[in-house]
Amino acid sequence: MANSKFAYVRNFELPDPLLPETYIVFRLDGHSFHRFSEVHDFTKPNDTRALELMDHAARSIMGEYPDITLAFGESDEYSFLLRKSTALYNRRQAKLVSTFTSFFTSHYVFHWSTYFPNTPLQYPPTFDGRIVLYPAEKHVRDYFSWRQADTHINNLYNTVFWALVQQGGETTTQAHAILRGTVSKDKHEILFTRFGINYNTLDERFKKGSILVRELLDDQPKPPPQASIESSQTQTPTETPSNESNHPQSTSTETSSETSPQPHSSSSSPTDGDPELKKSKPRRKEKKTKSGTVNQPMRIDLVHVDIIKDDFWEKRPWLLAD
Ligand SMILES: [Mg+2]
Repeated sequence: MANSKFAYVRNFELPDPLLPETYIVFRLDGHSFHRFSEVHDFTKPNDTRALELMDHAARSIMGEYPDITLAFGESDEYSFLLRKSTALYNRRQAKLVSTFTSFFTSHYVFHWSTYFPNTPLQYPPTFDGRIVLYPAEKHVRDYFSWRQADTHINNLYNTVFWALVQQGGETTTQAHAILRGTVSKDKHEILFTRFGINYNTLDERFKKGSILVRELLDDQPKPPPQASIESSQTQTPTETPSNESNHPQSTSTETSSETSPQPHSSSSSPTDGDPELKKSKPRRKEKKTKSGTVNQPMRIDLVHVDIIKDDFWEKRPWLLAD
């Protein structure tokens, strides 16, 4: 077939490699999720089930692709950071965007009933995806700061808006009118004086968004170093995972039963049907850690913390390393 007279059409397929040595940020976003959330009766202003389902799908991608070091989610969107030197799918843009978007969407649907046991899906949700390249650490940090600041701004607005509607008896039109022109301080004031709500005491998940981060096992209470290296439960990032169940379970602030990836068929390995990936260079260099071990296994934690200040990044230099 390859040599048929028709094969020339293959030449119309143009390569679309992403610039080398740049950070790849992949972001996906729910399509028409305003309608989707109404049809499926999402709780306003935040539906924890829906957010946890997003986290679950995001964690599944990270379990499958070790080159994703960090992910940030809010509402119906999730952003993923890939290592600067990743050779995943030979950095082909369409391959990365389509595979990640499809992977996330199918996991979202697959695990829907776990988070919404009493709410059947009324129609299939869809997500769009895009990739943006960033040349420097500063841009990556500013990108994630931008998304977290957005989370805060949206959540504060939505929290006051829905308090006005649900507890204050205002119509949605009135609530919008009341909030028009207000600054952050005014919104805190309305929340507190009218509804007795101290914004600062609300769930960190809603205020900070979800951060899925690869952490060294090094700084966890753990068995002797040798044991942790040899443990079959841990997997070094140099290997291509074929099954999420091989990955260390979360030790995050969330209960792992809610957030850990479910095993899925190893037939979904990213190497399947993609010989180019098999040719690609090892995806993570051996790393010397504080304890002197190499190929340190990593786990994926879900946290809801500040990623705008330096502290988060200074504690985790591997997130922006090559
Ligand atoms: Mg959306």
